[in-house]
Amino acid sequence: MEILRLPALQTNYMFLLHDPVSHQAVVVDPAEPGPVLESLAAQGAHLVAIFNTHHHRDHVGANEDLAAYYPGLAIYASQHDQGRIPGQTHVLQEGDSICFTGRPAVVLEVPGHTHGHIAYYFPPTAPGEPGELFCGDTLFAGGCGRLFEGTPAEMLHSLGRLRQLPDQTRVWCAHEYTETNLAFALTIEPANPDLQARYHQVMATRQRHLPTIPSWLGDEKRTNPFLRWDRPAVQAAVGASEPVAVFAQLRQRKDHF
Ligand code: ZN
Ligand code: FE
Repeated sequence: MEILRLPALQTNYMFLLHDPVSHQAVVVDPAEPGPVLESLAAQGAHLVAIFNTHHHRDHVGANEDLAAYYPGLAIYASQHDQGRIPGQTHVLQEGDSICFTGRPAVVLEVPGHTHGHIAYYFPPTAPGEPGELFCGDTLFAGGCGRLFEGTPAEMLHSLGRLRQLPDQTRVWCAHEYTETNLAFALTIEPANPDLQARYHQVMATRQRHLPTIPSWLGDEKRTNPFLRWDRPAVQAAVGASEPVAVFAQLRQRKDHF
């Protein structure tokens, strides 16, 4: 399975999963149709499904256009998003498994950014190979999504579940927000050497107009404050120790950063 990252709108990434043997493809969170259709043509690939993480327009905006180009296209999204995903054909819930050309993805319900937000996790196929996590607007490189429909407790639980995945997981999140996220992270943990190093690396990457996605989940665990609510330095920075309170403080401060 090849994964192609397609920039869309201002800050979004769409992801094209492409099997070069069968020439089948899946797109995760298509925001706009043009780049998806161009990429499919360039690969000589046929779109068989859309995997949506949540109902926001910048993640489902091209569903109907793509369904018009590919009759019979399967459109997957959460059971909780029924009625607000354009063209939805399949309803997913926690623990469901969907196969793309023989490779299974597990569905994780990760509410918080929205009520019906799900993530798609492809476990590694062999020892030493990475897992692939498509987490929409739940976990970002260096940050997390805003709480539009969920509580801090829900989002904390969702991020806690993602944190349990292996370090060698590539995080394919849906927005290029990394530089600002890490600038905020440094206000929380200015003395974290992994964070300092990552920030400088990301700044250099962005100065060259290159993408910072995917990131490694191991790096997120070491540097993303929203996965570090149980670290003494993070707790001290926000003046709280109870996990939900720490998370709520972090989220609130980031909202005003
Ligand atoms: Zn969103
Ligand atoms: Fe978004």
